[in-house]
Amino acid sequence: MDELINFLRACLDEAADRETRRFKDTWRYGDPCLELGEPFTLTDVEAKRRILALHSYPTGHSCSITDDTGHVLNYADVAPDDACTTLRLLALPYASRSDYREEWRP
Ligand SMILES: [Zn+2]
Repeated sequence: MDELINFLRACLDEAADRETRRFKDTWRYGDPCLELGEPFTLTDVEAKRRILALHSYPTGHSCSITDDTGHVLNYADVAPDDACTTLRLLALPYASRSDYREEWRP
């Protein structure tokens, strides 16, 4: 699961960098229509980073998993090497990236 978490961290870092650049460019060139405040994307990235932190315990965690038949098991013990459904769903929007692995698909 470390690889999935590292993949997600890289995706979130890139999203945050993109949004920060966009926000700075908007400031530099001025946009009177822009409502100032923390951009949604950065808040979204921070929330997802916190979800990753909750899933990064070296001893594993309790979460939802989906078995081979598609049945969802809630409150399952997820080993540190396994990917829970939550992390698989967080990675799904990045499935078009070349470094996304089909085995992560929920
Ligand atoms: Zn989980």
